[in-house]
Amino acid sequence: MPDSARPETTRFAPSPSGRLHLGHVHSALFSTRAARREAGGRFLLRIEDIDSARCWPEFEAAILEDLAWLGLEWEQPLRRQSDHLDDYAEGLERLKETGLLYPCCCTRRDIQEEIARAAAAPHGPDGPLYPGICRRLGEEEAAERIAAGEAHAWRIDIEEAQRQTGPLTWHDRGRGDLTAEPGLLGDAVLARKDIGTSYHLAVTLDDARQEITLVTRGEDLFHATHLHRLLQDLLDLPVPEWHHHGLLADEQGQRLAKRHDALSLAALREQGRSPAEVRAMAGFPD
Ligand code: GLU
Repeated sequence: MPDSARPETTRFAPSPSGRLHLGHVHSALFSTRAARREAGGRFLLRIEDIDSARCWPEFEAAILEDLAWLGLEWEQPLRRQSDHLDDYAEGLERLKETGLLYPCCCTRRDIQEEIARAAAAPHGPDGPLYPGICRRLGEEEAAERIAAGEAHAWRIDIEEAQRQTGPLTWHDRGRGDLTAEPGLLGDAVLARKDIGTSYHLAVTLDDARQEITLVTRGEDLFHATHLHRLLQDLLDLPVPEWHHHGLLADEQGQRLAKRHDALSLAALREQGRSPAEVRAMAGFPD
């Protein structure tokens, strides 16, 4: 349940790996309108740029420009994830202290081969789950491989983690009260080999740091929330509410993505569309 002492606080959290399209506009307006519904509500912006191979400052600048053109106002300063890598490293250390994380040296290929060998491979919403190769390594071998300089990610032993937290619940404003099912994502990666953190860890910590009371985002990330709820419990963080919104589709019913260049804000602006027209196209007529 929301903490009534805190003003409703929402955020829009784009990754600067491309230009914004209508789907992002929908998400941003969904978020800002939720904050504005309440007197004193706060709308924040977060730039999710931990993936330095895919994210570029030029795209961040374009996102800010597009959002301002749309008429959105967010509280300053914005939060940029690449400025907070220390914070995520510290969160990771705290999680390691629970004994629930294990290093994973697997390559994508190792994982595919193991899945192909297995008689039955459990699947989650995003495909086959990690088959647990490195969970079975044993501390000594894992330590040896790390000492030998093998690149490694950190995964969570999700079954053990669920035993430790016990049952957890969360509230989605569209779907009601839900029981957390973090096992759906299997032993998820919490720190990638290349960047030392992950979407799941960074988002969970940031939502707490930014005192978000209502996490709004597309339903493509619905399953991730189960894991975030578990991480909040392990890290002793406040629990917000969530509202996952539907995704905009093109005329063929295909979900909008960056490849839909014709529906990028840049293209719409070039065609002479006004901010009010674009807001209406994104499902929020004035
Ligand atoms: N950065 C994510 C995206 O652009 C959104 C993450 C979130 O809202 O939790 O899809």
